[in-house]
Formats: sequence, C-alpha cells, structure tokens
Amino acid sequence: MSFLKIEDIHHTYFSNQAAQTAIGGISLDIEKGEFVSFLGPSGCGKTTLLSIIAGLFPPTSGKILLENKPLKAEHDFSIGYMLQQDYLFPWKTIEENITLGLRLLKQNEGLEHIKAMKLLNEVGLAGTENSYPRELSGGMRQRAALARTLAVNPKILLLDEPFSALDYQTKLKLEDLVSETLKSFGKTAVLVTHDIGEAIAMSDRIYLFASKPGVIHKTFDVPDELRELTPFHARNHKQYTALFQTIWKELESLEY
Ligand code: ADP
Ligand code: MG
Repeated sequence: MSFLKIEDIHHTYFSNQAAQTAIGGISLDIEKGEFVSFLGPSGCGKTTLLSIIAGLFPPTSGKILLENKPLKAEHDFSIGYMLQQDYLFPWKTIEENITLGLRLLKQNEGLEHIKAMKLLNEVGLAGTENSYPRELSGGMRQRAALARTLAVNPKILLLDEPFSALDYQTKLKLEDLVSETLKSFGKTAVLVTHDIGEAIAMSDRIYLFASKPGVIHKTFDVPDELRELTPFHARNHKQYTALFQTIWKELESLEY
C-alpha cells in the first residue's frame, strides 16, 4: 500500500467553445516521508494535477487515494497547500494568520498560542507574532505561510512554485528552511516547479512532465549523495551537475 496513490488521472477542461486536455493519464505512488517534484515548463499540467490531489476539483477520470482512502475535499486538513502567493490575511497579525486553521479545528486557545510560537521559532520568525504581513519581507511572508500550512499538521504538503516570486538569495535560503523543516517533521511533500536545479536540490525523486496532454515523460531518482545534503550544498556537488545535464537534455528532446 502506498501513502499517496495517483491512479490513471485524466483531466479535460471544457468551455463553451473548446475542450482542453490538461492531463492525459498519470499514475504514480508516493511513500510516507518522501519529497517528490513535478518538473516541466508552464502549461504541462502540473498545477492541474496538484489541484486534483488537493481535492479542489474532481478529475475527469481516475482516482487518488491517501492511505488507501479517497480524499474528502471539504474541511479536510490532511492536505496542506502552499502557493507562489502567500495569501496571508493583511488585516490579521502573523500569529492570527498562523492559528486560523487551528481555530477552525476548535483547539483550545492556550494550546494554539504555544503551537504558533513553536512554529514561528521553527521557521525563524520568533518575535514577529504581533506584526502584520505588510511589515514582513517576501521571504519572511513565505516562512509565515509555511508555518500556517504546518500548523494544522497536514499529512502531505503540496507546494506550487512557492519560491518563484522571490529573489535568488531568498529562494536558496527558503529551500533549505523548507527542506529541513519538512524533514524534521517527517512530512511527505510534492513540489511543483519549472526550475531543474530546485527539483534536484530538494527532491528524492523527480517526475519530468511532457505537455499537450500532460503526461510523465520520465522519472529520475536523485542519488543518495545529494539527498543527504541540504539543498544549498547539493547544488555544489558534482552529481548535481551531472543530473542537471541529463534532465536538460531530456527537456531539449521534448522540443516544447
Ligand atoms: P502548469 O501548472 O504546468 O503550468 P496547468 O495545469 O496550469 O499547467 O495547465 C495545463 C493546461 O491546462 C494548459 O494548457 C492550460 O492552458 C490549461 N488550463 C489550466 N487551467 C485551465 C482552466 N481553468 N480552464 C481551461 N484550461 C485550463
Ligand atoms: Mg502551474
């Protein structure tokens, strides 16, 4: 039994004029604690598949099983979602933003506060609990978004290009933070990215997508030597360069 099982997912978007097949048959299995990436240029169906996994809408056909059970979409906190935009509420403090989900779960307030403080500390944002999102930098806001996502203790985290709006240095630092934090919590995660380097530096396994319709073109296992390193250090390893070249050539051969 796999932790997350994706079984023959097809998805077509219908409008009055046209039908657009975004996913043309994808199956894959993810084990507990694994970090995998969906890699490919824009338009190859990465966000569509992630949204289906998140239960935002049903696929045209196929099924998704989490711990052998179909996902329940509404008020189900087993899935945490982190996007390019942080979606923090501007009128709420950082602590209020982070405890929002906990409040929906009706945890007691004392416990909420302790949890929020612990998570803020974990993501390096201790002392910002009474600040408002506008007072924080882009990188700090994404760290707050990570803390908010982790607060409800999801079984799996879905990350849709969470670093792509950040400057390069902030992005590298946040890659390390996300990777270390998820490892320390033993979380399973799926990262969507169009950045080959990011996929190699962060993942255990990479699914390279081909488009029109979106399918998995090839799967790459990241060598242990890289997986043991933090993303930043992985980027300086010779195996990183080798895998980068291999994936680059594959992408070229797809002729987008
Ligand atoms: P990616 O995240 O890899 O960039 P998407 O999943 O966003 O790809 O899109 C895959 C394909 O589906 C694209 O051709 C896109 O134009 C199309 N698509 C995405 N969302 C919609 C939608 N809501 N309605 C119609 N077509 C869509
Ligand atoms: Mg996308």
